[in-house]
Amino acid sequence: MKKSVIEIKNLSKKYKIGGDFFTALSDINLDINKGEFLGLVGPSGSGKTTLLNIIGGLDSSSQGSVKVLDNTIEKSSDTERSFLRRKSMGFIFQSYNLLPVYSVYENIELPLILNNVPEINRKDKVLQAIDWVGLGDKVHSRPNQLSGGQCQRTAIARAIVHQPEIVLADEPTANLDAENSHHIMKIMKNLNKDLDTSFIFATHDEKIMSYLKRIVYLDDGIIQKDKKI
Ligand code: ADP
Ligand code: MG
Repeated sequence: MKKSVIEIKNLSKKYKIGGDFFTALSDINLDINKGEFLGLVGPSGSGKTTLLNIIGGLDSSSQGSVKVLDNTIEKSSDTERSFLRRKSMGFIFQSYNLLPVYSVYENIELPLILNNVPEINRKDKVLQAIDWVGLGDKVHSRPNQLSGGQCQRTAIARAIVHQPEIVLADEPTANLDAENSHHIMKIMKNLNKDLDTSFIFATHDEKIMSYLKRIVYLDDGIIQKDKKI
């Protein structure tokens, strides 16, 4: 049996707005295994980003329990959570979030520096990640010299360079045209297959769905359907 990487039990998230509470997630139960290629799918405002951010330790739950790689998130300190994020997770965002003054190489190297990987061991890992995403001719370019697709490929390489167990991707194709969307999905599918990395997407992009192996449908903060393909 495959190892469970994420176990969510009775999770709810309420945001306080003025004197009222708004329920963004309600009684979420979800187990995700190693190597899954899963999408949280639903209309805008259905809670996809909130759930992804809670899994990534970027936001906190109001109730329930979230376990990531055997760490109970609500019982972990800030330091433990940021260590887990740095070591075991990669993040991909709609807007790439690359550092503009850094080159492609330097952007991808950053997670290795944060994980204290010695300089002599970094080069091979960065070049390997650049090779995975096919950016060998852009190593020294800055983000403003790249197309959107190339920026997102840089962000994928940065998310995966330290070989995390889990990659969280929030609307990664939202700023890309169809051709680039398919291109990055194929790259991530290959990484999922070759490295057994678990990928969790938040998306409402039809193009992504054909690549997913499991779709968890959210609506109004509730899981409506959980479909394995
Ligand atoms: P999605 O990613 O599916 O579009 P979100 O998770 O961003 O949805 O948001 C779910 C709901 O929670 C939305 O109604 C949104 O307005 C609300 N929400 C998200 N973040 C906050 C916040 N920080 N404060 C108050 N409400 C929020
Ligand atoms: Mg969102």
